[in-house]
Amino acid sequence: KLSWIARLKQGLAKTSSNLTTLFIGARIDEDLYDDLEAALLSADAGVEATVYVLDQLKRKVKEEKLTEAEQVKRALKELLIELLLPLQKPFELGRHQPLVMMIAGVNGAGKTTTIGKLAKHLQNHQQSVVLAAGDTFRAAAREQLMVWGERNNITVIAQESGDPAAVAFDAVASAKARGTNVVMVDTAGRLPTQLHLMEELKKIKRVIGKGMDGAPQEVLLVIDGNTGQNALAQVKAFDDALQLTGLIITKLDGTAKGGILAAVAKTRPIPVYFIGVGEQIEDLQAFNAQEFVDALLQ
Ligand code: GDP
Repeated sequence: KLSWIARLKQGLAKTSSNLTTLFIGARIDEDLYDDLEAALLSADAGVEATVYVLDQLKRKVKEEKLTEAEQVKRALKELLIELLLPLQKPFELGRHQPLVMMIAGVNGAGKTTTIGKLAKHLQNHQQSVVLAAGDTFRAAAREQLMVWGERNNITVIAQESGDPAAVAFDAVASAKARGTNVVMVDTAGRLPTQLHLMEELKKIKRVIGKGMDGAPQEVLLVIDGNTGQNALAQVKAFDDALQLTGLIITKLDGTAKGGILAAVAKTRPIPVYFIGVGEQIEDLQAFNAQEFVDALLQ
């Protein structure tokens, strides 16, 4: 099996190859910048980040009097690292007792998989975890989570029928009573356009706050790294509704383009706590700007 970094590189291979080849034997002229613009746009970097990167790069080339394509490539790399650095923020444990996290996202983004990986990661760091099965729409999802919890020795709070806000409230109460370190509140997948479901998310967040002052301390959005420009719309809508504290970007091992991180950095610089590069527990990794850009532009 490949290392996680190799899988990230594999996932970003197409973007990486597009970006790298345009510098080979290139002259530093408008054609080069046009090619770079096209490559960034097709990597889902979005117009804003693309324009920004090109402007900055041209300025740098001028200021530093760069004459070789290879130097321009290096300058681009530095620029991208600088752009993505504000997204790099370690996920810290032990700040609150319990630390309450709420996790949202559209269906299929990788929410359940990510919650599983994260819960086991926390457990491996001597943190006790309770999960709130907030996906009260799908009985099968609840069952699946309970079976998983039993197998992994993680308490899952669920209700037969019900109000996801009440499940979340119960989970926080249970964690307070038992001294559990971390509460993870799962929520049913939803689209930003489903306004009543977005209202429901706000309610869940409010009710968690009633169970504990200042909770949830973390409100995370899970995004499929293959979503393209629509991912940015998701970030904006969920952030407007919930004031996100962090993002988790999954499936960067597939055929992801990677530019979405640049788009996020330029328009909504919300920390990316983790990236997903596969389905195993070790496939959830802290986001590091340098590592990511190294994989993107080899
Ligand atoms: P949910 O609907 O948001 O809960 O999404 P799931 O957790 O059920 O994930 C949807 C699919 O994506 C499943 O087949 C997962 O195994 C897969 N998946 C989740 N994260 C990753 C990842 O980082 N890499 C890959 N390759 N697949 C992933």
